[in-house]
Amino acid sequence: MKTNQQCIVMGAQWGDEGKGKIVDLLAAQADRVIRFNGGNNAGHTLVARGKMWKLNLLPCGLLHGRPGIIGSGVVLNPEALFREMDAVQQQGLDVSPDQLIVSDRTALVLPVHHQVEAAEESRRRRPIGTTLRGIGPAIQDKAGRRAIRAGDLADAALLEERVEDLLSYHNALLTGWGEPTVKKETLLQQLLALAPRLLPYVAAVPPLLEASARTGERLLYEGAQAILLDVDHGTYPYVTSSHTAAAQAALGTGYGAAVQATVLGVCKAYTTRVGNGLFPTELSGPEGDALRERGGEYGVNTGRPRRCGWFDAVTVRAGIRAGGIQSLALTKLDVLDGMVEVKVATGYRFKGQLLKEPPASLSEELNAVYETLPGWRRPTAGIRDFQELPEEARNFVRRIEELVDVPVTMVSTGAHRDDTIVLESPFGVAS
Ligand code: GDP
Repeated sequence: MKTNQQCIVMGAQWGDEGKGKIVDLLAAQADRVIRFNGGNNAGHTLVARGKMWKLNLLPCGLLHGRPGIIGSGVVLNPEALFREMDAVQQQGLDVSPDQLIVSDRTALVLPVHHQVEAAEESRRRRPIGTTLRGIGPAIQDKAGRRAIRAGDLADAALLEERVEDLLSYHNALLTGWGEPTVKKETLLQQLLALAPRLLPYVAAVPPLLEASARTGERLLYEGAQAILLDVDHGTYPYVTSSHTAAAQAALGTGYGAAVQATVLGVCKAYTTRVGNGLFPTELSGPEGDALRERGGEYGVNTGRPRRCGWFDAVTVRAGIRAGGIQSLALTKLDVLDGMVEVKVATGYRFKGQLLKEPPASLSEELNAVYETLPGWRRPTAGIRDFQELPEEARNFVRRIEELVDVPVTMVSTGAHRDDTIVLESPFGVAS
């Protein structure tokens, strides 16, 4: 394997870091773009071909004519995939089976998963604040060995058995909660109706990736969500139901050699979070509102306002270690333009002690300890050369590097893909 032939891009905070733009930029240098985790709960917004695109399941590389792969680590809602294909077709992008492969081992997200998730969330004493897209229950079914996988749609008799097993479990749960149950015939018919459209895209992914790497193609793994949402290493229980670390690129594709990839973490110059869970640097009131408005911090899928706050070097540093991140793309630097001063959390005060590592549970008694840096008067928006950034902005970037202990190799100063400073390309080529 050549060095820098594979690159994993993943979120280094709680998601929505602007991964879409960075993946889009690198996709132009890659031969294949591969999804390996999450489902249609993850959304990217990016500007390409002179238009705004909202992608949930489709790999961004399609916008550059690069074939996309949906690995087995993704949970796939076929109806959501078809809706997305129809939407991009309306914008002029046709996704044919030679442009997209769905792993035959990908577990499907079904209507029953939405039902079960809504029933469970409404009964939790402290709701997680999930996107209610059925992702968690679909992943639980996978671990419970009752999931229906994309390849199962090719065999109607087998499918009927799998549906029976699946519903015997979920209907018991729904009955216990006093919720309406699901009829076998209904689900079976829904699946059989989806099969003719999905099956032409379904294939085995690992041999394909191996063959592609052997011919020297560049592989770009597009992470969804982010390390602080990892089920083990994130801020449990307010996390997603699966792994988001770089190691998942190997597990979620079946191509173990993905562990040799260069790993680029994407990180905002501040912090946002959607849903519940502790957020030590959160700014409530006018400061938080200002960040939200300037950064356009509203969910792509749900339109939910995102919670906003200062950069938290403590959680990012821990996330970098757990995620296997080797360098950072720092995005949305321009959103901090015009601030008199900017803050970065360097530790937490907890019961009289100074913590330098996030504890297993982020307690409400945790207070962020800040370092304050001077803001910059001259805007950074649209700057494409590091040396042209105001000195205070350069110092801010350099201080973040010191605090999180990996180099910042890209800086993003606007939504457009060209508004990016590339100090070092993960594929080792000029952009
Ligand atoms: P993702 O899921 O990590 O891709 O995050 P989002 O889809 O929420 O993307 C972040 C949003 O910020 C999108 O609307 C981007 O177009 C925009 N964006 C990305 N990078 C920058 C940047 O450097 N500056 C500004 N102002 N906007 C950006």
